Amino acid sequence: MAAQPELELSGIGVAPGIVFGPALVLPADDVAPPDFAIPPEAVEHETLRFERALLATRRQLNDLQTRVSLAMGTESARIFEAHLHVVDDPSFVDEIYHDLRAELRNIESITYRVAERYAQALQQMEDDYLRERATDIRDVTRRILRNLGGGGSELVGSFDAPRVLIARDISPSELAAYDRSKLLGMVTELGSLTAHTAILARAMDLPAIVGLRGATARVPEGSAVILDGARGVLVVNPTAERTAEYQRLARGQQAIQQRLATLKDELAVTRDGHLVELSANIELPADADMALARGARGIGLFRSEYLFLAGNGEPTEDAQYQAYADVARKIHPEPVIIRTLDLGGDKLLADGRAHTEANPFLGWRAIRLCLDRPDFFKTQLRAILRASAHNPRVRIMYPMISSAAEVTQANALLAECKQDLAAAGVPFNAAIETGVMIEIPAAALTAELIAPHVQFFSIGTNDLVQYTLAVDRGNERVASLYDPAHPAVLQLIQRTVAAGQRHGIWTGVCGEAASNPLFVPLLLGLGVTELSVGPGAVPLVKDVIRHIHLAAAQDLAREALALADGAAIRSRCRDFVRECAPEILELAG
Ligand code: PEP
Ligand code: MG
Repeated sequence: MAAQPELELSGIGVAPGIVFGPALVLPADDVAPPDFAIPPEAVEHETLRFERALLATRRQLNDLQTRVSLAMGTESARIFEAHLHVVDDPSFVDEIYHDLRAELRNIESITYRVAERYAQALQQMEDDYLRERATDIRDVTRRILRNLGGGGSELVGSFDAPRVLIARDISPSELAAYDRSKLLGMVTELGSLTAHTAILARAMDLPAIVGLRGATARVPEGSAVILDGARGVLVVNPTAERTAEYQRLARGQQAIQQRLATLKDELAVTRDGHLVELSANIELPADADMALARGARGIGLFRSEYLFLAGNGEPTEDAQYQAYADVARKIHPEPVIIRTLDLGGDKLLADGRAHTEANPFLGWRAIRLCLDRPDFFKTQLRAILRASAHNPRVRIMYPMISSAAEVTQANALLAECKQDLAAAGVPFNAAIETGVMIEIPAAALTAELIAPHVQFFSIGTNDLVQYTLAVDRGNERVASLYDPAHPAVLQLIQRTVAAGQRHGIWTGVCGEAASNPLFVPLLLGLGVTELSVGPGAVPLVKDVIRHIHLAAAQDLAREALALADGAAIRSRCRDFVRECAPEILELAG
C-alpha cells in the first residue's frame, strides 16, 4: 500500500509538549435530538423523566468533581461547580418546564432548544469568561440528554491504547472524564486560549491545540500524528525524517522543562543585576497556590470579577473580604494587586437576564459600571481595604480607565470607605496603594495627567492592543491583525512608562504579552519593571529574564521603536531571544 502523504495543519497551541501517536477522531456530538409532538397527558411523564435525568446528572457531576479534585486538585475540579450551577439554575429549569407545557414537544427537544437559547445569548457576550459559559451549558445539556436515554455514550474507556484525541469541541467535563494515561494529546476545531478546556489541558499537562479548523475531516481515524503543543502544529502521516526531527525536539523540550522547574526559588534578576518584579495573574483565590508553586513573587492581577461569576450571584462584602484576605495572607509579605470588578454589569442584575449592547467592548463595563453604582463599588472597596489589614502590600487597581476624572472619582469613593471603616474601628492599611490599568489608548496618551493620582500603572496589553488597532481580541478572523508588537502599541507603552517615571511611579504589564518570552526583553527594555503572567508562564519568563542584560534590552527597545512594522519588530525580538536564550524558543513556539 502506498504511504499516505504527509499533511501539516496548524491551530492555536495552548499547552506545550510534543507527542506521537494514533489519532482518535470523535464525531461531532452536538446535533439536535429528534423533535416530535406529545399529547397534553404525556407532560407529567416527560417531567418525571426530566427530573430523573437531572438527578442522575447532578450525581455524575458530583462524582466527577470528587474524582478530578483528588487527581488534579480543587482548582481543576472547579469546572464542575459551574456545571452544577447550570443544573441548579431555577430559571433554566423553569423555562424548560414552561416550554414543555406551552409547546407540547418531547422533553429532549425542549431541553436542547432552551439550552441553545441560553448558550447563544452567552456567546454574544464581550467577556471571554461569559462566552465560555456557553460551552458549560452545552456540555451539561449533552449529559442531561444522555441521561434521558437519547444518543451519545460516555467516552471514557472507549479505547485501550493511548491516543491523540481529535474532536470538533471537547467540553471540560468530557476531557476530565478521560483516563489521562490513555490520552497523549488533544486537538479541537473550536476553542481559544482562555477556554476552560484549554485551562484544564494545561492543568493536566496535556499537550493541546485548539482552533484547528477542519481537523476532524482532515485527520483520518487511526492515522499516525505528531502534535506539537507549543507551536500549535499537527503533522498527519509524518515521514520518517519528520518523526526523527520531532523526537529530537521532544527530548530537548523535556530537558528544558526539567531545568525550568529548578528555578522556582531563584530571583527574576537580569545578568547585569536588575531585579524584575515577576508576579502572577490569578482568577480565584485557589490559583494563588499554583502561582507560588511556580515561583511567582506576588500577585500582579487578581481578576476579582471571577468571584462574581464563579459563585451564586453577587458575593457579600464578607465573602469578598474572605477571598481577598485568603490571598493576602498566602502571598504576604509580597504584593497582591486586586483589580476591581471588570465586567459588563448586567450579569449582576437580580433577574440575571443578559442584556445586549450594540458595542459591548465599548459599553458599560468595569469602572464605568462601578462609578454608576457607588454603593455596589464601595462594598468591594471596603472588602479590599479590610483585607489590607492582613498584608500591607495589598493594592487596588481600577480597570478600563479612560480619564483622570474617573480615577479621582474612584479615589473619592475609596476615601469615603476608609472613613467609614475608621469610624467603625475596623483595621485596614490607610496608606493602601492604588493604581490603574492602562488598557485604553486615551489612558496611555494622558498617563501624565493620571499619574499624580496613583502609585502605579499596569498595562493591559490584551485590551490595549484591541483598542489601539481596532481589532476584536476574541475574533479569529482578524487574529492576524492583533499585534502586540505594532509600533503604535510600543509607542503607547513607552509614553506610559515615561509619564510614570516623571512622577516617580512604576509601570508593569499584566496583559498576555508579558507571558510571551519573545516580548519580555522588549518590555523590560521599554522601562517596564514588573511583569505579571499566567502562573504556568512564570518559570519560562523568569528564565528569559535571567539570561538577558537590561542594557542590551534597552538597546533592543530603541531599535524596535525605530522599526516601521510589527513583523520587523517581532523578528528582531526573536533574534534577540535566540542570541541570549536560544532554548526558550523551543518552548515559546
Ligand atoms: C488586559 O486587558 O490586558 C488585561 C490584563 O485584562 P483582561 O484580560 O482581564 O481584560
Ligand atoms: Mg483588560
